[in-house]
Formats: sequence, C-alpha cells, structure tokens
Amino acid sequence: MTLTIENVSKTYPDGTRALHDVSLEIPAGMFGLLGPNGAGKSTLMRTVATLQEPDTGSVQLGDINVLEEKHALRTRLGYLPQEIGVYDNVTAETLLNHFATLKGIESRSDRREVVDALLDRVNLAAARNQELGGYSGGMKRRFGIAVALIGNPGLIIVDEPTAGLDPAERVRFLNLLSEIGEDSVVILSTHIVADVRELCTQMAIIREGKIIFEGTPQAAVAALDGHVWRKTVTKETLPDHEAQYDVISTKLVAGRPVIRAVAEEQPGEGFEPADPDLEDVYFTRMKGNRLPETVSAA
Ligand code: ADP
Repeated sequence: MTLTIENVSKTYPDGTRALHDVSLEIPAGMFGLLGPNGAGKSTLMRTVATLQEPDTGSVQLGDINVLEEKHALRTRLGYLPQEIGVYDNVTAETLLNHFATLKGIESRSDRREVVDALLDRVNLAAARNQELGGYSGGMKRRFGIAVALIGNPGLIIVDEPTAGLDPAERVRFLNLLSEIGEDSVVILSTHIVADVRELCTQMAIIREGKIIFEGTPQAAVAALDGHVWRKTVTKETLPDHEAQYDVISTKLVAGRPVIRAVAEEQPGEGFEPADPDLEDVYFTRMKGNRLPETVSAA
C-alpha cells in the first residue's frame, strides 16, 4: 500500500495559499509530516481524508483514486483528529459499537468481536462501561485510536498525536501507535520533532505550504554530520552570537544559554563539534523563520 500525492495545491477563498504544488510518496509504515503551525498540515490531511477538495492535483491510495472515489477511500480510512467530538454521556463500548455500525460492520456478533478486540488493544477494556466524559485526556486519545482502527484501515491519519498529553500518557500513546500494522500507511501530522524521531521511518517537512524535505530521519540527520557546533555563551553576548553565526537553536542549560550553530567548518572561538539531531535538521530547514522562537528552556 502506497499513498501518492501529486501536485496538490490549495488556496482558500480569502487568498491564503495553504498548499503549493505538494507531491509526496508515502509508503506503508509510520510517516511523519512535520511542520510549524500554519504550514498546511491539516489542509493536506483533510484533503487526503476527502474532507475538502484541493484546487488541483491528485491523490492515490493503492488502487483507489482518492478524489474521485471518496466512498472507497472512506471505507479504508482511519482518521484521528486532534479533538474527537466526544459524547460525554455515552460509554466507550456503546460509541465504538455505533462507529462500527457506521463503518459497515452489520452483524451484531461481528461488531461485538471487533469492539472487544479494539478495547483490549487500546487497554480500555476495564473502562468500557464508563462514560467518555469521565475519561482522562490520554484515555480519550486511546479511545480515538480504537475508533480509527475499526475495519483494519489501509490509511490512518493522526493529527497532532501527543498534543495535550502528559509524559506518561504520551509514551503509552506512542507505544500504541507503533503497534499499528506495518501494512497500513500511518501519517502522523505534528509540530513536535520528538514524535517523529521516536516513531517514524520516513518523514517530510512542510513549511508555508511547500515540502522542503522528504526522506528518512537518519538521512536528514546524517546530512548535518560535522556541521553542527555548540557553544555556551552568556545572556549578554547571546544577541551578538545570533547576529554573527548561523544559530539553529538556543537552550538554557543550568541557566546558561547554549547555542547550536550550523557551519561548514569550526565557526569561531569556543565552538565545539556537536552530534546533529533531528531538531537541528528541523530548525535548520525552518531557518529564516523567526529564529527567536526556537529559544527554549532545557
Ligand atoms: P497546520 O495544520 O500546519 O497548522 P493549516 O492547514 O491548518 O496548517 O493552515 C494552513 C494555512 O491555511 C494557515 O495560514 C491557515 O491560517 C490557513 N487556513 C486553514 N484553514 C483555512 C480556512 N478554512 N480558510 C482560510 N484559511 C485557512
């Protein structure tokens, strides 16, 4: 199973150009679509999910022409939006059963089997009779996975997988995602580099509606080998360093700013070589795009 997106463009009626000639070849497995807010991720995902039309371009999933055969696509699609509209007064079991009916699983005994298996899989069997309004954020996300997995979809889209989850819930949720069948195309749309680093074998970076990188995280990191440099500076000299060097990011380590810069060779006094990581890749590719936002506490 492969998802092929070709030359997809979209401009909203107010003139916002959300997608600009996007082409991507997405194989089975975990694919990370990484980009900052406003880059066009949701627009692209909603287009692939047949929830909105592009102006131009084509999308193909295996033998399904997605934009022409919407119904066929929808029967193969598991879509997990950031906020699942949760029906607070309904139990997990009842709602899952309802969605299974909508997905076309008509026999009651088949549905029971599917619902039981999914609740087990997302570790919510014990909470099956609890109303969803009482679920924690993490439980709601896991319930969303169960809904997305009904009917063994060939394409699974997860929007901002870990937004709003605490660290323990995040790990549980990522583990669950990593267990999804290897035959499906699974797209994680996210602005969090760590989600992609921890889960994805293939990735793309999107910025201002354009794909600016496509490949494996390893290849992306390897391309920066020998070109990332680190220096501990002071708050006073930080602005000078930012003006003088190609600074990728600044983090506070024990209260002192540590800058990472990209350069072909040792850029200046006090810089030592650093192992590149996926954040370096991401911020380097985003460069020119409000660097000060990359300053964060470590
Ligand atoms: P992301 O998911 O990466 O945050 P979006 O696809 O939501 O990006 O948005 C891409 C751009 O399109 C942004 O500039 C956003 O403001 C704009 N946009 C999104 N939806 C609409 C809409 N319905 N009408 C007009 N502009 C929109």
